This record gives sequence, C-alpha cells and structure tokens, in this order.
Amino acid sequence: MTELLDGKATALQIKEEIANEVRQLTAAGKRAPHLAAVIVGTDGASMTYVANKEKSSHEVGFTSSVYRMSESTTEKQLLESIEFLNNDPDIDGFIVQLPLPKHINEQKVINAISPDKDVDGFTPINIGRMVLGEDCFVPATPMGICTLLQRYGIETVGKHCVVIGRSNIVGTPVANLLSRKGFDCTVTMCHSKTQNLKDITRQADILVVAIGKPEFVTADMVKEGAVVVDVGIHRVEDATKKNGYRVIGDVKHSEVDAKCSWVTPVPGGVGPLTIVSLLQNTLKAYKKSNC
Ligand code: NAD
Repeated sequence: MTELLDGKATALQIKEEIANEVRQLTAAGKRAPHLAAVIVGTDGASMTYVANKEKSSHEVGFTSSVYRMSESTTEKQLLESIEFLNNDPDIDGFIVQLPLPKHINEQKVINAISPDKDVDGFTPINIGRMVLGEDCFVPATPMGICTLLQRYGIETVGKHCVVIGRSNIVGTPVANLLSRKGFDCTVTMCHSKTQNLKDITRQADILVVAIGKPEFVTADMVKEGAVVVDVGIHRVEDATKKNGYRVIGDVKHSEVDAKCSWVTPVPGGVGPLTIVSLLQNTLKAYKKSNC
C-alpha cells in the first residue's frame, strides 16, 4: 500500500513547535526572532515565495520584513543593502530571493551574506561546513526532505538513494546529507549527462527527483516499493481551477504512486517543508546570538 509523506501536516506540526518556543521566549521578555527577505524586481513566482515566507513567519510569531527593490537596482546598491542587514542586530537571518536580474552577479551577492545570518544556507562557508559535517545552516529544501524522511521514520541506513539533479540548492546538498552518518544511504547522483538513467533509477530504494521537468519520472523508472520524493513544482494551465492553474511535480504521480511504499504529493509534499526549514534556521540563528 502506498502511504503519503505529508509535508503539509508535518509542516503544521513543526510550525506549532516553533510557535511554542517563540511564545516562551516572548513571555520571558525577549524579542521575537526576525527573518528578513530581499526581493529585487517583480517576478511573479518570487513574489509568491516571499509572500509565503512572510505569512509563515507571522504564523509562528516571528517578526518579518521584506525589502522590495526595483528591477533596475544596481549590484552595488544590493550589496550595500546586504551589508546593512548583516550589521542590523535586530535581524537574525535573511534571504535574498533568487533568481536576481541578469545584470547582478548572483554568486557575488550570496558571498556577501554573513554566514551567521545565511538562513538559506547558500554561502560557501555554510556549504563547506555542511560537507565537513560541521554545525551550519543547511539549505532549506534538502533540510526539509531530510526532516520528512526522519519524521516518518523512513529506513535509510544502507539503502540505495538515487538523486536526479545536481543543483547547488537541491540535488548536490541532498545527496551529501543523505550519504552522511545518521542517514547512511549509498547515494548515486544523476544529472543531464547521465547515461541509462532508467537503469539507475530502477535500482533506487529512495528516489529524490529534482530535475525541473514536469512529470519526467514515469512508472517504468521506479522500483516497486520505492520511496519517492518529488521536489519539482510547475504551474500548468487548468481551466477547471478557480485560479486557472494547477501545480504538478517532476514525477508523473498518476502512474508512479501505485508502485511506491511512500511518496510526497505535489503540492503539499516538499514545498511546505522548505519554508518550515527556513523558519527553523532563523530560530537557530536567533538562539546563537540571543540565548
Ligand atoms: P535546476 O534546473 O537547477 O537543476 C536541475 C537538475 O536536473 C540539473 O542538475 C540537471 O543536470 C538535471 N537534469 C536535467 N535534465 C536531466 C535529465 N534528462 N536527466 C537527468 N538529470 C537531468 O533545478 P533545481 O533548482 O534543483 O530545482 C528542481 C525542481 O525542484 C524544479 O522544478 C524547482 O522548481 C523545484 N524546487 C522546489 C522547491 C520546493 O520547495 N519544493 C525548492 C527548490 C526547487
């Protein structure tokens, strides 16, 4: 029987845990944790992501602020804003919503974020610490995937985990985390140049799909009884929906789900855990400087 790795329910539970901690902190006279976000331009998806982060911050009792900058913001102006946030003692953590406009060097901007406030876990210092197994801010989506596997008690030790995708924000870090002590998976990472992909994915006990192609993974690519984690998010037009679209993943759930022992739905799987992980990282940043 297929069971759901319910990200929505898990996220609600974790948010309640965070909210309880925040209530205790503020009852003790301390200020609430503060998460800030910087958004450059008016990209629709980015604005939705930032609005969701703001909403979730408020739900757990955090202070939240959003710095909205115009599309024509220069790299220098953005770097100055980051310097300001790095030095503001009332801000515990902040994110710079990606992608940035083409005239701004993304890596240069990420490198300017203080590692102590880098709650997205994207700076080279935090990535280096993660690879070394040191205390760090783990990128939110991979952290959310690990949390989901842990909370549902998915057996990982010695299992063959195949990760499709090698991006810096999902594929590479999740492959690293799942191969580490504690998870102890044997990990194979696949990418756009991988040959005979299907032969590899069919060997996966745990299949993590972060390829960015709608419904790419079909039933013939999945082993019977596998755990499938679908990271993909795509909006497709759907006239039957009030908002005119529906959200699908990188996995063709209509045919894959029946073969799985556990599967993340889309929406309501990895997405909610990504935001919650950001909140967990912010609380951690707060505690480091305030507790
Ligand atoms: P990306 O485009 O940066 O990376 C895609 C990866 O897929 C690349 O490493 C590439 O090598 C690999 N790939 C492409 N074609 C392939 C093929 N034919 N065979 C094997 N590998 C192939 O994407 P990303 O940023 O890692 O995101 C992946 C998906 O996850 C997207 O749909 C994105 O929207 C979604 N996403 C969701 C969340 C969330 O919170 N749920 C967070 C981040 C990203």
